[in-house]
Formats: sequence, structure tokens, C-alpha cells
Amino acid sequence: MNTLKKTYDVVVVGGGPGGIPAAIAAARRGAKVLLVEKNGYLGGNLAIGLPLLGYLDKNGIQVTGGFAQELVDTLMERNACYGHSRCPMHNSVTLYNHEEFKLVAFEKCLDAGVEILLHTEVVDVEVENGAIKNLILFGKGFRIEVESKIIIDATGDGDVGFLAGARFQKGQKGTGVLQPPTLMFTLGNVNLEKFHQFITDDPDQMVLWDNSEIGSDYNPEHIQSTQNHVFVGLRKMFSELRAKGELPVDRDTFIYINSLIPGEVNVNSTRHLNVDGSNVFDLTRAEIEGHFQIPKLVDTLKKHAPGFEDCYITRIFPTIGIRETRRFSGIKELTEDRIVAGDIPEDTVALGSYIIDIHDGNGAGTIIKRLEKAYGIPYGCLVSKDIRNLMFSGRCISMDAVVLSSARVMPTCMAIGEAAGVGASVAVNKDINAADVDSLEVAKILRDNGAILNYS
Ligand SMILES: Cc1cc2nc3c(=O)[nH]c(=O)nc-3n(C[C@H](O)[C@H](O)[C@H](O)COP(=O)(O)OP(=O)(O)OC[C@H]3O[C@@H](n4cnc5c(N)ncnc54)[C@H](O)[C@@H]3O)c2cc1C
Repeated sequence: MNTLKKTYDVVVVGGGPGGIPAAIAAARRGAKVLLVEKNGYLGGNLAIGLPLLGYLDKNGIQVTGGFAQELVDTLMERNACYGHSRCPMHNSVTLYNHEEFKLVAFEKCLDAGVEILLHTEVVDVEVENGAIKNLILFGKGFRIEVESKIIIDATGDGDVGFLAGARFQKGQKGTGVLQPPTLMFTLGNVNLEKFHQFITDDPDQMVLWDNSEIGSDYNPEHIQSTQNHVFVGLRKMFSELRAKGELPVDRDTFIYINSLIPGEVNVNSTRHLNVDGSNVFDLTRAEIEGHFQIPKLVDTLKKHAPGFEDCYITRIFPTIGIRETRRFSGIKELTEDRIVAGDIPEDTVALGSYIIDIHDGNGAGTIIKRLEKAYGIPYGCLVSKDIRNLMFSGRCISMDAVVLSSARVMPTCMAIGEAAGVGASVAVNKDINAADVDSLEVAKILRDNGAILNYS
């Protein structure tokens, strides 16, 4: 096999919300950075039709800034983003055009001097004396051996950590159940005016589970008040259909994300039970199942949901969305009690405040709990406990499964990514291990770049 050898200061594996800001932050601070991505575009779940949730907390206070805000500002300048709107259920919603985003992601990486390698996967990791000596990449018949001072694993599933033998956990405490994946798709020719009239005439269609955790003002009026909305509802309709055996999906609500394109909505409503997204056999089953579930779900909507009668599928997103897999052991671990208490320790390098939002991996329901205030994510959650030159970013950092259900939202993953990139650059500049980096120095650099690390 053809083998190439390369050397970098920082290699970021995975070009999603955890990876892009990490690569850009490290490169902007002078590091020689490679960003490796298995798809032919950047974005990960930023490119699958989802809204950005959680820039604002329950009280409307902004908790994520820095690169994540810079991205929104750039998209707004191009009329490709609505900005942040408060939401009584999701705290805040920020809708954007996903295709424009993909272009912006390339531009910002290239402007920062990041070298991008697409269509390339990590296939092996050589560990020597507790550190990664070589990352083995593979793309189109080429084996690429890469040496790097710091490696940031932003693959979502923690593929690098897994191959390096780093310790990890999976699933909810006690049960090991993982949140289920969803294959996103877009519907065109939806008459939203008619649909909104339907939910106004029958507001029970917006009654969700135990509504005490969801603002009572999450109602048809809210949905009609702003284009910048995500609709979660039709529980009444879905329950009736399920009772008759006519519901083609294992979930009890319908979710659409309004699009910036009139008449289009992105749908987040397939569900695939007992799937481990870090297992390719499960992944394959879920991808195929998703493609079969979508037309059945669309037929159900056409038949029962006023406004959807004439809709059609305009796109099925290229990769299924994975909510939860591996969480790696860091030199610190963030736990549920800390986020519920709203603890912001001194070594905080990112804030989170999104709701605890656990989709049932072997049933139809969802657990929702809103947090009263923001919480801090310590630097040590991003640093591997086992491998000296390995850091984590995005949803595979060191935290428990309940924290993951909140910190997994994309603005928070971007804040984590920026912190990982800055931390890596400090380690490279001082020629020290990631674990020996002063978190206060990282926090200062982040603040100087517009990150929000204080909450009041
Ligand atoms: C169905 C669904 C709905 C969600 N809803 C929302 C929402 O409404 N709002 C919100 O803010 N968040 C939402 N989330 C959460 C959010 O999308 C994820 O938690 C977040 O994207 C995680 O970021 P990440 O960078 O860790 O992983 P990802 O977004 O998965 O990015 C990982 C990247 O790494 C690449 N990669 C993976 N393995 C390799 C490898 N071995 N080699 C090279 N590249 C690799 C992938 O192709 C991908 O580009 C949702 C998630 C799902 C699945």
C-alpha cells in the first residue's frame, strides 16, 4: 500500500461542531493544524438540518459566545441565519441555512490556515510510552502516518480514543441504554399557515409530557409568533394512531424545524431503537431502517396533518444523526449534580445551560428537565486521563450520561471545541502535556476572543 508520512503540531479528527472550532482556534494561535474528516464536507451534525439550540439559557441570558457566535454573525451577514430567539421549551432557537454553513466552514478553516483532509478516516493509532506516536489515516488506497504533538478527538464517537485504548463509558447509569439515532429529512410544499391554524383550533396537539418542565407559553401562539421556531407536538395525534397500530415510528411526538426556505421544514422524527452508533452493523441497520421509515411517516403526515397534504421529500440527509455513544475518562469528569447546582468552577473553559433532554433508546418517550442557570465545563474534561497527548472535544468528553444530554447541543460543543483548540495550542507553544496546561491561561485567551465564561 502507498504510505505517506506527515507531521503537525495539532491534528483534529472529526470536522463537526467539536472539531471545526478546535482546528480554527489552534491554527489562529500559530499551530500547524490538520483537520481530518471522513465525509466530503465539513459540519458533522451542523450539516444535517438541525437548529442550533442553547445559545441562551432559560432566563434569556447568552451563555455561548466566541467562535460559536462569530459563526452566527457571519451567517447573519449573508442572510443565512435568523439569530437567537427565546423558546419556552428549548431556551433558545437559532435557525440557519445548512448549505451556506458548509461554505462558511471551509472559508473559516482555510482563512485560519487549517489544512483540511476530507474522505479520510482514522484506522489505527500507535501508542508508545502512554502517548500517541502515530495516527494511521486511510483514504482512497493511501495509508497516511501522522505524527502530532497533540491530537484532538472530535469524532463524536471517540474513535481515536477507542483505537488508542483510552477508557470510556456508554449509556445511562444502571441500564447502559443509549439515546436513539434519527435520520433527518426535509419536506417541501408544506402549508405552514394551515398547519398553524390546525394547532390553534386544537391546542391539545401541543400538550407534551409532564408540562411542568416546559413553559406553558410553548403553545401555538409561540409557534406562530416567530419564523425562528422548532415545533414539538402532535402527541395527541401520534397516541391515537399508535393505539390503532397506524404509527410507523417508535416515538410519541413529531418535531419539525422551520427552514429559512419558505414551504420547507426539516423533520427530526424517525427513531431507531437499540442502536449503538459506534457499531457499524447497528449503524447500517439504522440507516436502512430510516430510509424505509421516512416515506411511511410522510404518508401518515399527508393523511392526518392539515397543511402537509401536498408535501414531498426534497432531501434525506447523507448521514444518520447519532445522539450518544462513548464518553471518555478525563482528568476531570462533569456530573449531573454539578450542572443541576449551576456550578461554575475556576477551571471552567465553556458554559452550558441547555435542558436535560434524554430521548429513550428503547421506548417512545423523552425526559425533559430545564436547568435554572448555566454550569461550567472544566478544562480537565477535555484532557484524556490515559493518553498524554490526546484531548477530546464535542460529545465524547468526560461527563456522565445526564450531562451529555445537555452539553451535546451544538453551540456548547463549539465552545468546548474552541477551548480544546486553545488548550492544545498552549501545550504546543510551551512544549508541555495537555494535562499541564494552566486552565486559567486558556480561559483568559478564550475570554479575549469573546467566549462567555461568567454567568450572572
Ligand atoms: C437527531 C439529533 C438531533 C439533535 N438535535 C439537536 C438540536 O436540535 N440542536 C443542537 O444544537 N444539537 C442537537 N443534537 C446534538 C448535536 O447534533 C450533537 O451532539 C453534536 O453534533 C456533537 O458534535 P460532535 O462534533 O461531537 O459530533 P458530530 O456532529 O457527530 O461530528 C463528528 C464529525 O466527525 C467525523 N468523523 C467521525 N468518525 C470519524 C473518523 N473515524 N475519522 C474521520 N472523521 C470522523 C464525522 O463525519 C463528523 O463530521 C442532535 C443530535 C442528533 C443526533
